[in-house]
Amino acid sequence: MHNIPKRLNLANLPTKIEKLHRLSEKLGGPNIYVKRDDQTGTEVAGNKIRKLEYTLHEAISQGADTLITCGGIQSNHCRTTAAAAAKLGLKTKLVLRGQQPAAPDGNLLLDVLFGADIHWVTPEEYRNRRNDIMTGLKEELAQQERHAYIIPEGASNGIGAFGYYSAMEEIIQQEKEMGVQFDAVVMAVGSGGTYAGLLLAQKIFKTSHEIIGFNVSNDAEYFHRAIMKVLEDAEKHLESSVEICSKDIRIIDGYVGLGYAIGRPEERAFIKELAMLEGIVLDPVYTGKGFYGLTEEIKKGRLEHLNNILFIHTGGLYGIFPQGKEFANLLP
Ligand SMILES: *Cc1c(COP(=O)(O)O)cnc(C)c1O
Repeated sequence: MHNIPKRLNLANLPTKIEKLHRLSEKLGGPNIYVKRDDQTGTEVAGNKIRKLEYTLHEAISQGADTLITCGGIQSNHCRTTAAAAAKLGLKTKLVLRGQQPAAPDGNLLLDVLFGADIHWVTPEEYRNRRNDIMTGLKEELAQQERHAYIIPEGASNGIGAFGYYSAMEEIIQQEKEMGVQFDAVVMAVGSGGTYAGLLLAQKIFKTSHEIIGFNVSNDAEYFHRAIMKVLEDAEKHLESSVEICSKDIRIIDGYVGLGYAIGRPEERAFIKELAMLEGIVLDPVYTGKGFYGLTEEIKKGRLEHLNNILFIHTGGLYGIFPQGKEFANLLP
């Protein structure tokens, strides 16, 4: 038997699964469903809170009084961590890539409201030294008798991955209630933890789902490695091994577009199309690219073997507001 770590109860679960009737009809292919993980909460909306239910249980059992984590200036993960920390009476230190803007907006505005202490670093420092920088901050706090717990980027490590292990259990239960079998579970991939958790559960429960990720940064090869690393770390918590190899991982590359967090007109047009068609708003950094990629692959006839597809809406809504200027040409 596998040992599943303990968790806190912080997210609004289970999240709904909705069928997108009009989009499915318009594409004339598979039935497309969406799991509304953008509705896991308000302050904690999105996929990160599922991971943090496990991560923060571990942090608290280790006696932490402060959380340290890192991300981009509009990081959903950092905002979710700051919100959850405030709820739990913990302090937060964020290592953010970039420079302090004149006025904070989107996720950064929320970080400020939750009282997060922000440590700005350059893109080079972030890329090469973010973990050392977080360790340095932890040591500084230790000198003041404070106990910090470091969460890696995106909470994408072994413990965090259990958030989507349990999301997969939730999906299996919902399939029974709905009388539907999803052939594929699809999501945007940013640091790989969500994908890793879903694949871990798919292997443990031996279901037939294809787990398909669309990377929004780097490339497929990078994520094969990153996901395998998360899975190896998750196995340490399981205290048993699960047979997963790199060829079980399916990442569809080709939809990063202009680069991480930089949108293209066709992606923004798709965000507007889905909003008008189904009343669902995607974010420009993750779900806008991932869902756009999914519909393009369907149009190209590359997913014809799939009848029922479940896309996980992993949230990110606050990240659309700082990009208002980019959407200006879509105004009537
Ligand atoms: C972080 C994030 C993702 C990617 O999840 P990973 O586990 O980092 O791969 C997808 N969508 C949104 C909105 C996110 O914030």
